[in-house]
Amino acid sequence: MESILFLAFAESDGTLNKAALEVLGAARDLGGTLTVGLAGAQAQPAADALANCGAVKFVAVTGADFAQPRYATDAAAAEAICRAAGAAIVVVPSSSRSSRVMPGVAHRLGGQIDTHITSLAVDGQLNATRWYYRQRMEAVVERAKRPWILLLESGCHAAYQGAAGSAKLEAVTVPLAAVHQRTQVTGIRAPQSDQQTIRPDAKLLFVAGAGWTKKQADGQIHGPEAEQLILGFLKKSAASLGGSKSLVDQSGEGQPILGFMTHLNQIGQTGATPRHPKGLATCCHGEEPHVVGWRFVNERRAVNLDPNCGWARGKADVLYVADAFEVMKKVNALLAEKAGSAGA
Ligand SMILES: Cc1cc2nc3c(=O)[nH]c(=O)nc-3n(C[C@H](O)[C@H](O)[C@H](O)COP(=O)(O)OP(=O)(O)OC[C@H]3O[C@@H](n4cnc5c(N)ncnc54)[C@H](O)[C@@H]3O)c2cc1C
Repeated sequence: MESILFLAFAESDGTLNKAALEVLGAARDLGGTLTVGLAGAQAQPAADALANCGAVKFVAVTGADFAQPRYATDAAAAEAICRAAGAAIVVVPSSSRSSRVMPGVAHRLGGQIDTHITSLAVDGQLNATRWYYRQRMEAVVERAKRPWILLLESGCHAAYQGAAGSAKLEAVTVPLAAVHQRTQVTGIRAPQSDQQTIRPDAKLLFVAGAGWTKKQADGQIHGPEAEQLILGFLKKSAASLGGSKSLVDQSGEGQPILGFMTHLNQIGQTGATPRHPKGLATCCHGEEPHVVGWRFVNERRAVNLDPNCGWARGKADVLYVADAFEVMKKVNALLAEKAGSAGA
């Protein structure tokens, strides 16, 4: 196997996140001579955590100038690390930060890049796998060009878990005078964590369908109650929230109902295909263009009033023919009870 550089941007405290450790796990499995390259404000905590990962050396670009995710400094740091390591294969955890700079770095190095990689394998030569056309076709990519930079997705490999130690970090210097630093990150605007409904690491995907906004048995729409039941469940269970196209389209039209739902929550053919161990669909019919987004959800359950809904036709492992308002009220009460007894 050729030489490999595992290149990652460290968190502000100098550690690596779980997605990075997963990608390191994939890089180690390739079996080549491994170098670890780190960039960020500090990198010693990450290097120490990886001290026993089998890397022959650790190189890093660190300092306050590299704390911010800014194209100019990130690209300069990544380029310098790649040149210092001189590896043929560069494996990088996919993130908004790395996705923005690594194509430019590949160009500067005269190499090639592939993104959205889901697995790597060595079969005489290196093969990288990725999906095309909304996860309908899987391609196996080989390339002769080196360096070959590969951005690996999260959730596709077990995270590296070796014992920590003490790693000798080789500092790589980047001549900052040649790097334009016009961009200053003045702050981050993000929703509060309990408003953040998309949680890729959650064990459960909770999907809300358009039924939540339809007239119920009493002839009335129960929007505020639906909102309170769904948000209450998300808060208690830490599940990730998905939606059907019908529901997210309604929110997009500015209707007051379920205003926290956006197109980013949409699951399906024209939406996302998340990876969660379990999924629960509520008030969602389970039509094929929606269910195709569930292909990586291992255990599927649905709550629907209609015993002939799409889920009943082999698309769910368990279908509860029931009123989702009643079911979720009861589930929330049970979760509150459990939390109460745990806190007592
Ligand atoms: C090209 C194309 C691409 C598409 N892409 C996507 C996509 O990416 N994602 C997607 O989701 N859809 C997609 N669609 C649309 C898809 O075909 C469906 O129209 C959509 O998923 C329906 O959404 P829904 O099940 O929430 O709504 P509905 O079909 O309106 O179903 C609502 C369900 O709620 C149930 N219900 C109502 N009240 C209750 C209650 N109290 N308790 C329990 N159940 C209740 C009803 O029985 C019903 O089954 C696409 C369609 C096309 C043509």
